[in-house]
Amino acid sequence: MLTNDELARWDRESFFHPSTHLGQFARGEAPQRIITGGEGCHITDRDGNRLLDGFAGLYCVNVGYGRPEIAQAIADQAHQLAYYHAYAGHGSEAAITLAQMVMDRAPQGMARVYFGLSGSDANETNIKLVWYYNNILGRPKKKKIISRWRGYHGSGLMTGSLTGLQLFHAKFDLPLEQVIHTEAPYYFRRPDAAMSESDFVAHCVAQLEALIAEHGADTIAAFIGEPVLGTGGIVPPPAGYWPAIQEVLDRHDILLIADEVVTGFGRLGTMFGSDHYGMRPDLITCAKGLTSAYAPLSASIVGTRVWDVLTRGTDENGVMGHGWTYSAHPIGAAAGVANLKLIDSLGLVENAGTVGAYLNDRMRSAVGDHAHVGEVRGEGMLCAVELVADRDTRRFFDASEGKGAKVVAAMLKRGVIARAMPQGDILGFAPPLCLTREEADRIVDVTAEALAEVL
Ligand code: PLP
Repeated sequence: MLTNDELARWDRESFFHPSTHLGQFARGEAPQRIITGGEGCHITDRDGNRLLDGFAGLYCVNVGYGRPEIAQAIADQAHQLAYYHAYAGHGSEAAITLAQMVMDRAPQGMARVYFGLSGSDANETNIKLVWYYNNILGRPKKKKIISRWRGYHGSGLMTGSLTGLQLFHAKFDLPLEQVIHTEAPYYFRRPDAAMSESDFVAHCVAQLEALIAEHGADTIAAFIGEPVLGTGGIVPPPAGYWPAIQEVLDRHDILLIADEVVTGFGRLGTMFGSDHYGMRPDLITCAKGLTSAYAPLSASIVGTRVWDVLTRGTDENGVMGHGWTYSAHPIGAAAGVANLKLIDSLGLVENAGTVGAYLNDRMRSAVGDHAHVGEVRGEGMLCAVELVADRDTRRFFDASEGKGAKVVAAMLKRGVIARAMPQGDILGFAPPLCLTREEADRIVDVTAEALAEVL
């Protein structure tokens, strides 16, 4: 077996890590952590640390680590049939079963599910389907996509453009010109402190209307949004936001893509975030919770309104030229089937609602009054603590101080993983959906200790 030092050197010399400061990493100035195992809500690393994972990897290991049922399903599938493609009507029992299970759980009005590999590629698929749809309908100009500042939709060319965070645009020549951004429903950062929640919803609607008027509804194909903004700061929308947005979209014949990569399959205490907020999406993007990240798999769920036009399109034009070699990969599909069965048998959607509410309530009472906590917010098994330099003015700390990262580091020292969200000093929590109340208590206690140490 390689020594820790050898492995660390190979890591620095050979491995191009995603979302990493490349220079610091190569010079050995950035942390390296080699993860060796996981069980339930905990992971272990090569240095012998056992860490409570308050972010479920990247909000994806929803059933928790080390589930033998999923490992066995993957092994069985690999032995029986590791791969065959899904082009031109081919399939595997696992992929067909998973498609049926997804459709049984999907919100009303959905017609079919397409399987890819990542949240990014599922969003790319959904955008292409929206463009195809408008071409078939004879509206070739209706192509722009509206997303929100602080939205996160991936880091490909199109999805990186849809993402509304500077980190993912800078120096990449993004966003592409078909993408336009509108206001995030971020009530804590509302433009005027005197605004009520309903005033602020009206403000977001007015911003959206103004953007549509500026570009013309005949150039705008779709609006994409996460039910709860995730990577942009874990921001649940103010009451009434989604119905108000939906009304504008319906009036201008603009499709809605619900990006449920984080919220799909239970994280908000409902199977989908669309159910939770009464959204009526035309397309839904899923990934993470579909397999709890035991294998890469994503889903683009297509609503009836779009599906009918797609089938008409292929009747008129022949085969649709869209697919990946690994679409509906049998091993990913087998993991998905076992994962969804576990979510049901363990009651994890319900647990996300009840233990998630407990985590949020406890976090609010433990740190909500801290002099540098501006807001504790969350929904289901998502929670955020936003740090501020000044509670009255809601002023940010200077970014160079890295306060959020320092608190996260102080938590890690105590054995709990939180995430410093990429824009602003926001501590993010998105634990596995199987979190217990005792584990929620530990996350909260360690957050309080770390805040006391750093701020
Ligand atoms: N959409 C949302 C809401 C996400 O949170 C993410 C990833 O975090 C993505 C899309 C992109 O998914 P992936 O990283 O699997 O490409």
